[in-house]
Amino acid sequence: MPASTANVDAAELAKFESLAARWWDPDAEFKPLHDINPLRLGYIQERAPLAGKAVLDIGCGGGILAEAMAALGARVTGIDLGEAPLAVARLHLRESGREVEYRCISAEDFARERPGAYDVVTCMELLEHVPNPASTVTACARLAKPGGHVFFSTINRNVKAWLFAVVGAEYVLNLLPRGTHEYLKFIKPSELERMCHAAGLRAAGFTGMHYNPLARRYWLGPGVDVNYIAHTRRTDD
Ligand code: SAH
Repeated sequence: MPASTANVDAAELAKFESLAARWWDPDAEFKPLHDINPLRLGYIQERAPLAGKAVLDIGCGGGILAEAMAALGARVTGIDLGEAPLAVARLHLRESGREVEYRCISAEDFARERPGAYDVVTCMELLEHVPNPASTVTACARLAKPGGHVFFSTINRNVKAWLFAVVGAEYVLNLLPRGTHEYLKFIKPSELERMCHAAGLRAAGFTGMHYNPLARRYWLGPGVDVNYIAHTRRTDD
């Protein structure tokens, strides 16, 4: 894949490649993804019940969400551009006994291959790592069936988000490796909503994803000023 023309930042991919072996260690670098997984899974399941659905997880990494959705009865495809996370994801299926189809392909290329194929598309913690998030959002919309559900999660861009998601998570609490997130790539909900609107996705709900490090408690609720999830639906049905 010609990284120079594709919607991918090689340095971003490299961050995840180097950590991939520890993807499924619930106490290592991806601990935050393990911790938030039940929350986001519950949010998706409540809004788009997964049993029997064709589901695509874009930027699936080692497969934490993809496998959990398969366990709820969805037929899941996971795509990513990182070879190492995908290798870990495939290996983990042997341990879990679950079935997920994993492919190393960009969202844009996959949208040409399987337009309109998915009831549910999830794109979690990816948009803040790609050079052109609007292009990814458009690809997500194309991959969904008319009326299909598309979920995004990312990080807002403001002083509080910088303090919590960069300074707090990477430098004070050491929840994430330093350099995981770049402030300027964070995305305001209004910007995401504009990208969705342009791609033919209607916003159906935005919710905050919160963390109290002292109580070690995660929850969903009002307040989208740091981490948030968006639920959208493809409109052209
Ligand atoms: N969505 C997963 C993993 C998030 S980590 C979860 O929330 O559990 C971010 C993932 O995005 C990594 O697996 C990385 O390899 C992938 N990634 C980064 N840039 C990408 C791009 N341009 N296209 C596809 N995947 C990308």
